[in-house]
Amino acid sequence: MKHNYIAGQWLEGIASVANINPSDTADVIDYYAHADAAQAGEAIAAAHAAAPLWARSTPQQRADALDKIGSEILARREELGGLLSREEGKTLPEGIGEVTRAGNIFKFFAGEALRQRGDKLASVRPGVEIEVTREPVGTVGIIAPWNFPMAIPAWKIAPALAFGNAVVFKPAELVPGCAWALAEIISRAGLPAGAFNLVMGRGSQVGQAMLDDRRIDAISFTGSVATGTRVAQAAAQRLAKVQLEMGGKNPMVVLDDADLELAVECAVQSAFFSTGQRCTASSRLIVEQGIYARFIKRMRERTAELRIDHALTAGTDIGPVASADQLEQDLRYLAIGQQEGARLVCGGEAVTRATPGYYLTPAIFADCSNEMRICREEIFGPVVAVIPARDYEHALELANDTEFGLATGICSNSLKHVQHFKRHAQAGMVMVNVPTAGVDYHVPFGGRKGSSLGSREQGSYAAEFYTTVKTAYVGC
Ligand code: NAD
Repeated sequence: MKHNYIAGQWLEGIASVANINPSDTADVIDYYAHADAAQAGEAIAAAHAAAPLWARSTPQQRADALDKIGSEILARREELGGLLSREEGKTLPEGIGEVTRAGNIFKFFAGEALRQRGDKLASVRPGVEIEVTREPVGTVGIIAPWNFPMAIPAWKIAPALAFGNAVVFKPAELVPGCAWALAEIISRAGLPAGAFNLVMGRGSQVGQAMLDDRRIDAISFTGSVATGTRVAQAAAQRLAKVQLEMGGKNPMVVLDDADLELAVECAVQSAFFSTGQRCTASSRLIVEQGIYARFIKRMRERTAELRIDHALTAGTDIGPVASADQLEQDLRYLAIGQQEGARLVCGGEAVTRATPGYYLTPAIFADCSNEMRICREEIFGPVVAVIPARDYEHALELANDTEFGLATGICSNSLKHVQHFKRHAQAGMVMVNVPTAGVDYHVPFGGRKGSSLGSREQGSYAAEFYTTVKTAYVGC
């Protein structure tokens, strides 16, 4: 039984919930505490009390703590990667890769804690100097989704602590194991009691309590558009600082002059790896007419080679869908696609394996229209829609015709089209001849339109959210 971490203590919740392996539903990973709104309030009070103390810590203290956390995560990457894959269902190499990324993020922000800069400017008035400095925001509420249970908490918690904020962290219900393991490492990093708190529980109770509590100064949220909209409304009610990262319907354009093998590899990786459960997954492939038939044929052949199996089995390319609810959603959209008249080229079948799990074969829909629901709504599974395009201009128009704007990609050998696409694609991240999913940890991450609200996450840009700017005028 694993407890919540509040004010430097491990505390029982009001209930305990079994954490089930989606590759083998007979495998219970452990039991995890669930808090209610009152216990969330205790964590918020602890963070609020510790915030001034942590804000006064030196950059060296913060850098040392984050470096220690990052070092331990990296040293235990295989074990923690195994836990991640067992809990969330991505393959073991993907799990280890995500844990490595989380460790590197803590190391990066250990450095950022030492690189806090300000500006000194001459005033337009005589005898006055101006200093512009950054200060911590205060107490930050972190609400995370289930699909990157190590990396997303890391890229929120690390900058929050690096810039001197206290943290209340609420992980997604589906992935308490990674959250608890991360919290346990952080609990031994030398932070003052209350500077970091873990509260596991339901979004409607723990999450909502964080949204409604005025002692939480800023909320960093990643998850669905539906929940993100509620978060933004609650933050607006009390004028709290808020940052939202939400869904995507990310396009990848394939032009006639693309390297076919490269384009197919980019598409298969982006659409199906991590079981398609990535906010940056390519779920719309927009393919020019001259390469269209050859692309679909190779895509189908390459997809047939993928092995769908237990996430921890060596050689598995695609693990199970993360939960029964998510599998149901994927199957619902597969039926919708067929009703809408899209041509199912392959996949889309719930299949059985040696262990009972949520296995689904990756699905390719061809001859889609961008107006279909499967091209407009986020499915969040291994389902991709291929849309034919007349030419580059048409492809760009289709790529931008979406309510989302997280990642977008193009496969082409035309410098002219690539340069034009980089300039005119309406998304926060543009990928050229690389998959839309898979990003570096030291540069800004985020989107536009319905995908994101507020300032960017990660890299040096994270300071925008986790600090507030002060301008001082000094008469001299
Ligand atoms: P979700 O919106 O269901 O849940 C996200 C978090 O919000 C969970 O911790 C949940 O408990 C919490 N929550 C639910 N109701 C709440 C409430 N009333 N108040 C406060 N918190 C509440 O999302 P999910 O299913 O966990 O994650 C999948 C979604 O996340 C997909 O849409 C995906 O695209 C998105 N995502 C986006 C990014 C990005 O950076 N843009 C990254 C990963 C995932």
